[in-house]
Amino acid sequence: MDILISGGTVIDGTGAPGFVADVGISNDAIEAIGDLSDLAPNAARVIDAKGLTVSPGFIDTHTHSDGILLWDPQHANGLRQGITTEILGQDGLSYAPLSAENYPIYRRYISGILGEPPEDLDMSSVSAFRSHYDKKVSINTAYCVAHGAVRLEALGFQDEALVGDALERAKRLITEGIEQGAVAFATGLMYFPQSWSNGDEMVELCKTANEAGGVYVTHLRSNHNERSFGGEGGVPEALEIGRRSGIGVHFSHYRTGPETAGQVEETMELIDKAKSEGVDCTMELYPYPSGCTFALSMLPSHVHDGGPEAALNRIKDASEREKLAEGLESDDGLVGVVVTYSPQTPEAEGMSVMELAEARGVSPGELVCDLLIENDLRVAYRGAPPDSVKVWRQVSRDTMDFLSRPDYMVGSDAIPIGSMPHPRAFGTFPRILGRLQRQFNVISLEQLVQRVTDNPAKRFGLKKRGRIERGYFADVVVFDSERIIDNATYDDPRQPPAGIPYVLVNGQVAVDNEKCTGVFAGRAVP
Ligand SMILES: [Zn+2]
Repeated sequence: MDILISGGTVIDGTGAPGFVADVGISNDAIEAIGDLSDLAPNAARVIDAKGLTVSPGFIDTHTHSDGILLWDPQHANGLRQGITTEILGQDGLSYAPLSAENYPIYRRYISGILGEPPEDLDMSSVSAFRSHYDKKVSINTAYCVAHGAVRLEALGFQDEALVGDALERAKRLITEGIEQGAVAFATGLMYFPQSWSNGDEMVELCKTANEAGGVYVTHLRSNHNERSFGGEGGVPEALEIGRRSGIGVHFSHYRTGPETAGQVEETMELIDKAKSEGVDCTMELYPYPSGCTFALSMLPSHVHDGGPEAALNRIKDASEREKLAEGLESDDGLVGVVVTYSPQTPEAEGMSVMELAEARGVSPGELVCDLLIENDLRVAYRGAPPDSVKVWRQVSRDTMDFLSRPDYMVGSDAIPIGSMPHPRAFGTFPRILGRLQRQFNVISLEQLVQRVTDNPAKRFGLKKRGRIERGYFADVVVFDSERIIDNATYDDPRQPPAGIPYVLVNGQVAVDNEKCTGVFAGRAVP
C-alpha cells in the first residue's frame, strides 16, 4: 500500500450514507476500503483522517482554465478547492482543433477570457491539445470540442451559418475530436463565431456529436437573433436541438439571478416539460449572484466579422467607437461592472468602469473601448452582486434548491486570470459544500457530494472517476465538513479556502496539509 487514509468518514460519491473506514491506495488506484489498520505499518504514507470526510475529488464541469494551465500548471485556485478534474472547451471558446494559422488568431480573440498561453503550441487536433495537459498539470482535464474553433476551421470568422462543404468539414472535425477523447461538443451562442450558427447547423453538428458519443454543452443564446429557433429565447432553442438531434443537452450555468431570485420552479418549467417528453437534460451552476465575461464579447455582431484584427480596427474608428460606446451603455449595461483583467493597464483591475470613466473624463462605454485598444482586446469584467442582502441570500438558497435535483451538478465558470477575478474561481466548491450547505441544509452532504463527483463522471463518461470504490482512480479529497469554507470574496477574490487539508490526484498527494506539493499527476481523461 502506498498511501493509507485512516479513520475518516467515507462519502463514496454515490449518495449512500457515509461510513467510517480506511482507504488504501496503491499506484494510481483505490485498492481497499475498510479496516486496514494491520496494513498501516507497511504503508509508505499514512494520512490521519479521523474526524474528517474522505470523498472523491470534485469534478468542475465548466471552467476557463484552458489557457492558464499551460503557464501555471500548479493551478492552486482549483486544486485547493478539492477539484481534481475540470472540463475544458466551454462555451466553444478554446484552442482545438485549430490549424497553425488559426490558433494565433483565436488565441488573440479569446485572450480576454483565457489569457495568453504559449503561441507555438500544436493545437491542430484534440489529441495534440490533450497532450499539452496530460501528466503536465496538477489536475485531470477533460475536453469538449469547441464550436468556435470548429467554425474557424470550417469557414473562418464569417457571419454565415455552416452549410454544404463547410458543414461537412465541421462535422468531420467533431467526429475526430470525440474519437480522440473529447467528451462533448460545446458552444456559447452569445459568443463569436458561434453566434453566427443557425438551428439547422446546430442540429446537424449535434447529430454528429451524438453519433460519436458526446453530449451537447450549451451556453444559451441571449442576443436573441433571427437565427435562433424553437421559440422565444435560448432555452426553447437548446431543447429543440436536443429533440431533433437526439443528443443529451447540458445547460451551462443555469440558475436564478437577482431579477429571478426565488423562481426555481419557473426556471425549470420548460426543461422539465421537455424531459417528460424524452429530451435528456442536465444542468450546472455556480453559487454567486453575478457573472463575468470578456469585454470583447459584449460588442455587437458586425464588430467580430473578420476576426480580432478587424474588430480592433472597428473599435479604433472614431464614429464606430461612439456607437459601440452607446450600445455598451444601453440598459445600464455597465452599471456596477468591475474590471477583473486588463494586463496592460493593471491599475484598472478591481476598479469599476464608472469610476475609471470619471477619472479619465470619458463615458463608460468609451472607457471600455479604450481599455480594449490599450490591452489588445485582453479585458474581462464582472457584474456586481445585488445591493439587497435578502435578494443575494435568496439566490444562494436557490443554488441549493437546484442542487437538490438529481440532474444538477456544479461548474465554477472560473476565469482565474488577473489580479481581481470573480471569486468563483477560488471559492465555488467550498462555498457550496461548506457555507451554503451549513446555512440552508437542503439536502444531505452525501447527496451534495454525489452532485459534484459521481453525477458529472457519469454524464461525461469519465471512466472510473467520481467514486471511492475499489479499482477507481485515487482522486480523493479529505475535508472537514464542519470547517470547509470559501474565503474568496468580491473585494478579495484570490483567497484560498479553508478546511480542505488533503487532495490526491491519481494516487499522488497534490495538496498536503493545505499546501500544494508541485506534483503534476493530472491526466487528460477519460
Ligand atoms: Zn463560461
